[in-house]
Amino acid sequence: MVNTPHVPERTCVGCRGKAPRAQLLRLALTDSGELTVDALAHLPGRGAWIHPDPACVELAERRRAFGRALRMRESPDVAPVRDWVELHGAERGRTHSPSPTGRRHTDSKGG
Ligand SMILES: [Zn+2]
Repeated sequence: MVNTPHVPERTCVGCRGKAPRAQLLRLALTDSGELTVDALAHLPGRGAWIHPDPACVELAERRRAFGRALRMRESPDVAPVRDWVELHGAERGRTHSPSPTGRRHTDSKGG
């Protein structure tokens, strides 16, 4: 058993800050080439890491860091990431949030 104090760090594609992977959110690509949140960090292939912070998502989007990190030709749609961060990232700082605005309802779109 190796007991190393070293914590593997990843670089946030937004603010370029380094943090242990537990503090970052992994982003990956779906089979259809869309950006998705890999919350459990178990998807295969190339991934990008980002703080679960709307500011970092915005930064990364502006710098087209997602496309670069994931070797995409075009900048991906970051809506899934933004939604995830708004939903889960806010949980960390708030004890209780009132009813969320249901601007995104569940619809299963085939694709
Ligand atoms: Zn960041």
